[in-house]
Amino acid sequence: MQFEIVDHPAPRSAEQIKSILADPGFGTNFSDHTAVIDWTEQRGWHHARVEPYGPIALDPAASVLHYSQEVFEGMKAYLHSDGSIYTFRPEANAARLNKSARRMALPELDEQLFIASLEQLVRADKAWVPGGEGEALYLRPFMFATEAFLGVRAAKEVTYRVIASPAGNYFGGELKPVRIWVSRDYVRAAPGGTGEAKTGGNYAGSLIAQQQAAEHGCQQVLFLDPLHENAVEELGGMNVFLVTNDGRLLTPELTGTILEGITRSSVIQLAKDRGLTVEERRITLDEWDRGVRSGEITEAFACGTAAVITPIGELVDGDHRIASTGTGEVTQSLRDELLGIQTGTVEDRHGWLHRLA
Ligand SMILES: *Cc1c(COP(=O)(O)O)cnc(C)c1O
Repeated sequence: MQFEIVDHPAPRSAEQIKSILADPGFGTNFSDHTAVIDWTEQRGWHHARVEPYGPIALDPAASVLHYSQEVFEGMKAYLHSDGSIYTFRPEANAARLNKSARRMALPELDEQLFIASLEQLVRADKAWVPGGEGEALYLRPFMFATEAFLGVRAAKEVTYRVIASPAGNYFGGELKPVRIWVSRDYVRAAPGGTGEAKTGGNYAGSLIAQQQAAEHGCQQVLFLDPLHENAVEELGGMNVFLVTNDGRLLTPELTGTILEGITRSSVIQLAKDRGLTVEERRITLDEWDRGVRSGEITEAFACGTAAVITPIGELVDGDHRIASTGTGEVTQSLRDELLGIQTGTVEDRHGWLHRLA
């Protein structure tokens, strides 16, 4: 499928882009274009294009607005020192988008078409990829039900889009441990539910817990298992790892309620490459607490595309606190290695990079 390219009639000037990239923040500024592909039950995917970024006309009855039939992805484009632009493991994002789409009764998108949509958008908006340390052009592919119909069934009209947003350091500044609120009132996902799909509803349901976290001076929420067995699942949008004093890396196993992060699977691979033992299994909050106090657990971190790898500081569980393990050596060096591969300063020995432009 060929992409039609509709250039922005009045793109931002080099000056304007420069001033945005000087302090990109996260998710507040958007590049000049968007990639779009339409789908109908009758025609399948059609009309692939790159067009000017701007508001979308949507029928008020569009089913996404009522029943949240949508899925999304999150990835980054990195500027390398020779001026080329790469993304990281896009086939994995394509596979996950389709897994999420199947769960939400949305159509699957061919991997080649998915990757082409990223290439086309990034080629149009090359100037928007920041090159500072820890900076990248965040890419947000998403798919949603546009059919105007209030009946409850899978929509017969769907749109896929990609937007791009220059991103600085997700939590701002240098690597500071984030303070975490343990959610006791709310769970993120349940067996047979949508926790394994990257879909907006999971995030909508997590916002109230995020508000509680903020009220208690915490930046992120840790969700436990839905059966109240005290098992650690994940943060609102990041997977969790613990490091032990005898060279093991622990992370909750994928049970169907945890989103399988591409950063998570990359960290597991990099850890194994170093000879660390990786244990994917059930981890309770009590094990975490006891381990920190005995000195067996020396580091804790969260990982995801947006924030890469972030050390977990103190855990706030009601009146109980689990002490911070600070920013440990393993956390720091896994982060450096992963970022190094993504930005082209460390050898890409697993062939994870894909050139976009
Ligand atoms: C996207 C996401 C992650 C991290 O996935 P990455 O592929 O590493 O970015 C983790 N948990 C949830 C709930 C997510 O939505």
